[in-house]
Amino acid sequence: MKLARIGGDEFLVVLETLDDELHAGKVCEKIIECFSKPIETKEHQLNISLSIGISIFPDDGQDYATLLKHADIAMYQAKNAGKNTFRYYQDQLSVDVQKRLDVEQAFKGAIENNEFYMMYQPKYTLADKKIIGLEALVRWESKHLGFIAPDEFITIAEDTGFILELGLYIFKQSCKDFLIFKGHSLDLKRISINISAVQLYQETFINDIFSIVDELGIKPQCIMLEITETYIMKNIEHSMKVLNECKEVGFNISIDDFGTGHSSLSYLKKFPINELKIDKSFIDGIPDDQNDTVITQSIIGLAKNLGYETIAEGIENEKQEEYLANNGCMLGQGFHFCRPKTKNDLIEFIKIDKNPS
Ligand code: C2E
Ligand code: CA
Ligand code: CA
Repeated sequence: MKLARIGGDEFLVVLETLDDELHAGKVCEKIIECFSKPIETKEHQLNISLSIGISIFPDDGQDYATLLKHADIAMYQAKNAGKNTFRYYQDQLSVDVQKRLDVEQAFKGAIENNEFYMMYQPKYTLADKKIIGLEALVRWESKHLGFIAPDEFITIAEDTGFILELGLYIFKQSCKDFLIFKGHSLDLKRISINISAVQLYQETFINDIFSIVDELGIKPQCIMLEITETYIMKNIEHSMKVLNECKEVGFNISIDDFGTGHSSLSYLKKFPINELKIDKSFIDGIPDDQNDTVITQSIIGLAKNLGYETIAEGIENEKQEEYLANNGCMLGQGFHFCRPKTKNDLIEFIKIDKNPS
């Protein structure tokens, strides 16, 4: 690392080797941290704030002048964003890196501040359109970044390990809400909770979730764990072990996004599965796209032969519903029936649905 003073209060740091772009940000965090406490002199206490701009060779410039100019632009962006922060020079790549860093930062304290909340989407029997279960879907209204969709933040939460803490929070919240739904005499067999692969790799996972249901007095049979096919097929040995352990203590298992993860059929029958969830990408093309109808029919047939239930996700219209019901799909879920709703909205919705005026 080289340090130079290039103007009155401007300094230049050169990092000659970088493992990846994020490393530059980590160095900035350390520099900012060094100045986070006031500096004491004999007579004064000096509070120093700094703003840092980052430009990276060769993407942000091939020569010294361009790199410096871009670092300068980034520094002004950092200044505008408030004191004691840093910014990467904003070409598209840097926008993505910065967004990731912002999300990582915003995770801190977000659970404690109640920024995460749950929405629930009903699962219907297609034969008689009764609600038999709910899927819990997390939402995040960040104090710093506003609303962020789960598709955007779940991967980052997985990469940083934050999903372990968040996953347990989601699990507990969903279980508590399930009791509230039952308290309103809503006739629900179970609640489905999405589980990330990262959680399944944690040794204590099953114990942790079992303690939660045990403490709340919920039977594990009322909980369906939604696990993606991609995880299962990527790590057959590990997933077999974990799924068997889940099953042993009584949890139900649903294979999410089924049809996208290249299942090996010989393994599929050995897994302790209760439900296959046909991925929305196939439901989208029903009933007109021949590939999608053939795949959907095969999944329904396969599930029947193996003794699993099938559910279709992402049903958006009557034609899809009709086709699926006529072709033996047991369950369905989608905007056509009901969008995900907050706990209170869903309680109202189900009451009205059951007793239409
Ligand atoms: P997923 O598990 O496949 O969830 C289904 C997604 O499709 C949900 O999006 C749901 O709101 C949406 N959806 C349901 N019906 C329809 C429909 O008819 N049309 C369309 N276009 N979309 C529909 P959401 O809530 O944004 O979640 C996206 C993904 O984020 C989920 O996909 C899941 O992978 C992840 N996710 C959401 N909540 C959680 C959670 O609590 N834990 C974990 N680990 N992942 C979660
Ligand atoms: Ca799901
Ligand atoms: Ca899905």
